[in-house]
Amino acid sequence: MVLFAALLALLVGVFLLRVSQRRKKSIGIPHGDVVYQDHDSQRVSPPTLVSERLGLRGKPDCLIRNQDGIIPVELKKSARPPARGGVYPNHLIQVLAYIVLVREHYGERVPYGLVLYGDEEPRKVYATPQNLEWLENVILEVRRARSAKSVDRSHTQRSRCRGCGMRESCNQSLESYTRPV
Ligand code: SF4
Repeated sequence: MVLFAALLALLVGVFLLRVSQRRKKSIGIPHGDVVYQDHDSQRVSPPTLVSERLGLRGKPDCLIRNQDGIIPVELKKSARPPARGGVYPNHLIQVLAYIVLVREHYGERVPYGLVLYGDEEPRKVYATPQNLEWLENVILEVRRARSAKSVDRSHTQRSRCRGCGMRESCNQSLESYTRPV
């Protein structure tokens, strides 16, 4: 009886593993070992990745290592993902930064990064020379803005202000802020 229960548990385990692998494959997440995860339920927080060269620090949601290298994966809850398989600029900056951080921290190849908007097909981000140059320019602009006395809003998108963590204190927000009670 004990043997039967163990065998049954093993079969259920194999079945669940297959289902999970098939689901990963069907939504386009690459096979491989999860070598890094950052989520609230973890008891031990993973290390912050640091690039002294670019003055960057960050924690990717997940890193998958396979024969191609290490792939950073970011999970996003955007109610309206960008059309035509695109990636929002702030998510593009984030994933490019993680690609740089992973390359410098692990010294391994990073073929691309992934952004997952809900159940949609993952969107790939490539660290092309143009993308990396753009990232470095963004970092420079952010540094300049940080040391400036005041900075003007650079866009007209209400949705960006709606999801912005600075909205409460920002005097250029396009969305009014009501403090939760
Ligand atoms: S709330 Fe302010 S800082 Fe945030 S996106 Fe809008 S204008 Fe920019």
